[in-house]
Amino acid sequence: MAPESTPNHDCAFLDSVITDSRVAHAESVREQYATDASPHSGRMPDAVVWPGSTDEVAAVLAAANDRGVPVTPRSGGSGLEGNAIPSAGGIVLNTAEIEHVEVSPDDLQATVGAGVVYEDLNEQLASHGLRFAPGISSSDVATIGGMVATNASGFNAVRYGETRDHVRRLEVVTADGRVVECGSGVVKTSAGYSLKDVFVGSEGTLGVVTEVTLGLVGIPKHRRAALVTFPSRAEASRAVADAIGSALVPGAIEFIDTTALTVLNAYYDDISFEEQPTLLLELHANNSGIEEDLAFAKAICEDHGMRSWDPADEAELDDIWQARRDKYPASRAYHKEWDVALVGDVVVPISRYPEIVETVSQVSEELDLLTPCVGHAGDGNLHFTPLVDPDDEEMVERAHELNERVVRKAIDLGGSSTGEHGVGIGKRKFMTTEHGPAIELMRSIKETFDPNGILNPDKVLPDA
Ligand SMILES: Cc1cc2nc3c(=O)[nH]c(=O)nc-3n(C[C@H](O)[C@H](O)[C@H](O)COP(=O)(O)OP(=O)(O)OC[C@H]3O[C@@H](n4cnc5c(N)ncnc54)[C@H](O)[C@@H]3O)c2cc1C
Repeated sequence: MAPESTPNHDCAFLDSVITDSRVAHAESVREQYATDASPHSGRMPDAVVWPGSTDEVAAVLAAANDRGVPVTPRSGGSGLEGNAIPSAGGIVLNTAEIEHVEVSPDDLQATVGAGVVYEDLNEQLASHGLRFAPGISSSDVATIGGMVATNASGFNAVRYGETRDHVRRLEVVTADGRVVECGSGVVKTSAGYSLKDVFVGSEGTLGVVTEVTLGLVGIPKHRRAALVTFPSRAEASRAVADAIGSALVPGAIEFIDTTALTVLNAYYDDISFEEQPTLLLELHANNSGIEEDLAFAKAICEDHGMRSWDPADEAELDDIWQARRDKYPASRAYHKEWDVALVGDVVVPISRYPEIVETVSQVSEELDLLTPCVGHAGDGNLHFTPLVDPDDEEMVERAHELNERVVRKAIDLGGSSTGEHGVGIGKRKFMTTEHGPAIELMRSIKETFDPNGILNPDKVLPDA
C-alpha cells in the first residue's frame, strides 16, 4: 500500500528547467499518474514531466536532487506491483517520449530510446528479419525502459532469456544528473564491474534509463505448436518439468489451468477451449529437426496421460496467443462485482514446478478463493490472480494470505518472490527472507547511487 500521507513538494522550479509543454502541474493530469496497472493504492504526484531527450532528463534530475524532491521514473505504466506509483509524491518523470530507434542488422543489435513500446520495436525490426525476444503479454504498452527497469520477460524467455540477457549497453542518468554509459555494443566484455547489470531490474531506484542497445535474434523460420490437455494439473506440470529436464528447448511452453480456461471461455463469444489443464507448446527452428522435437514433446506428454493433442497452424496460433494475453482482462471481467486482488508472480526451479502449482490450488481451495492460474511454465514461472469483491475486506485479506503463503513456499523451494513483475511495493516485505544479509549490500548500492534517496522512494528495498 502507498503511504497515506506524505508531504507535498513544491515543483514550481520545473518551469525554469524544462519547456512548458513538457511539464504538468494540473490536478487532472497528475491524477492519471497516481497509479499503474496494479491493484495497489495510488498516490498523486506533485508534477509530471515528459523529457524529450537525455539532457532534459539530466536537467530535471539535477534540479530535483538539489532540492530533495522525489522522482519516480515511468514509461508505459503497465507495472503490476505498484512499481511506478509515486509513493512519496514529487515528480513523475515519464520517459515515454524518448522514442528513437537505430537498427544495426549486421551486428544483430538496435539502439533504442527508453520510451519505445516493445511491439512497435518488433514491428520495425521485422523488416530486417529480427526481433527483441523476451515476449511479454503487455507488448502493446510496455516500453523498453520499463522492461529494462523490471527485467521483464515472458512467453519466450524459456528459449531466449529475459531482458537482461539482451542488454548490451545502457545510457543512464544518475540521481544527481550525470549521464553515464554502461557496457558497450559488443556481445561480451570483461572490463570491470558490470554496472548495466546493476541498473537492469533496479526499477528506477538507481537511475533513469534513457537509451538501450539490445542484442537481437532472427525471427524463426519454422514454428510448430499444439494445445495439449491433461487429466490433472499435476500431470500437466510434471510434463513441463520432464520436457525441460530432458533438454527440450521450446520457443514457449505455457501452463493454463481449468479456472483460467473457464474465465477465457466466458470472455469470448467466438472461442471455446476445452476446460482441462492445458499446455500451449510452441517450437521454433531455422533448419530441420523441428518435427523430431515435436514428436519428442508429444511422447513426453503421452507419458503423462495426455488427453488430447491439438496442433495449431499459424493463423490459429495468433488467436491462441491473443487469448493467453487476454487472461488478465478476462479475469477482471469474469464476475461483475469482483476484480483481481493481486497478480501473483513466483518462480521456482523447474523440478519443483508441480509443487508450486499444487500449492496455489490447495491454498485457494482452503481459503475459498477462485484463482485462475497461468504460467511461463518452461522457466518455472507461475501467475495466479485471486478474484475478490473489493468491498469485502475479509475476502481481500484472504487473497493476500494466499499470495503470502505461495511466495514463502516458492522461496522455500529455492525460487523467487517474483519471476518478472519486479518488487515494486508488493514484494518488499519478502526481500529480507529471499536475500538474507545481501540486502545490506543492496542498501549500500542504493546509498552510493542515490545518496539523497530521491529515486522511486519506498520501492524494492524493505524499510531499514
Ligand atoms: C496485462 C498485463 C500483462 C503483463 N505481462 C507481463 C509479462 O508477460 N511479463 C512481464 O515481465 N511483465 C508483464 N506485465 C508487467 C509490465 O508490463 C512490465 O513490468 C513492464 O516491463 C513495465 O513496462 P512499462 O514501460 O509499462 O513500465 P512502468 O510501469 O512505467 O514502470 C515499471 C518500473 O520501471 C521503472 N521505469 C520505467 N521507465 C524507466 C526508465 N526509463 N528508467 C528507469 N526506470 C524506469 C518505473 O519506475 C517502475 O519501477 C504485464 C502487465 C499487464 C498490465
